[in-house]
Amino acid sequence: MKKFLMGTNWKMNKTLAEGLDYTTGLTTIIAPYSQFEFFIIPPYTHLWKIKEAITAQKSPLKLGAQNMHQQDSGQFTGEISPVMLAEIGIDIIELGHSERRQYFNETDQTVNLKTLAALKHGFTPLICIGEQLVDKDYHVSKEMLAKQLKIALNDVLADDIGNFWIAYEPVWAIGVNGIPAETPYVEEIHNFLRSILIDRYGARGADVPLLFGGSVNINNARDYALLKNVDGLFIGRSAWEPDLFKAIIVAVGDLSNKV
Ligand code: PEP
Repeated sequence: MKKFLMGTNWKMNKTLAEGLDYTTGLTTIIAPYSQFEFFIIPPYTHLWKIKEAITAQKSPLKLGAQNMHQQDSGQFTGEISPVMLAEIGIDIIELGHSERRQYFNETDQTVNLKTLAALKHGFTPLICIGEQLVDKDYHVSKEMLAKQLKIALNDVLADDIGNFWIAYEPVWAIGVNGIPAETPYVEEIHNFLRSILIDRYGARGADVPLLFGGSVNINNARDYALLKNVDGLFIGRSAWEPDLFKAIIVAVGDLSNKV
């Protein structure tokens, strides 16, 4: 059985000292939960030290970066390249988070270029897609999501299946003002995304991990996790303390009977 994925993006939060404390706490907490695959996505400046801490503790915790430029090097002030992240030993590159799209001009096309670069360098791109509230209100969520997904995966081959993850994060459900999505809505959208992946890759499309994110908390985590086409949870605020993350792990509980 595929391991259920659970991870958190810290966004622009935590000092290095706080991040190291968090990492030590979380590696201890997750040790007995081998049925799950866990990941954390800290700010760039913490990655070296956190990688050292994870390695020193021989923890299976995976480490991600919140973004990446698609070029190996060049005149791109303020950017971080795949080569630099590979030196650290990063596992996952988060791409296309709604905040990157909203505040930093990330587009479907740049997400695609970065996805291809991440795969080329042996990372697991974690590609975030999500519709705006206006899309939902005007009943064009599926059109928007299909467009984001298809452009992100342009030129991504079936041979890469297993090497990239998709996170569906409705923008209206994310963050302090987010409204948690109803479980049937998440189910409908994840089934739809799966159908696009199967159209595109045939039966192998079933093997692309689809994570759900947006106001996941201890009250809704298990309901989402039980959905057939939800292969993981991508959590923000509710996992920013190790004990809160643990409460979600406990709330998700046993998924061994999940179909
Ligand atoms: C996010 O921003 O990707 C996210 C899932 O945040 P939150 O869980 O805090 O809504």
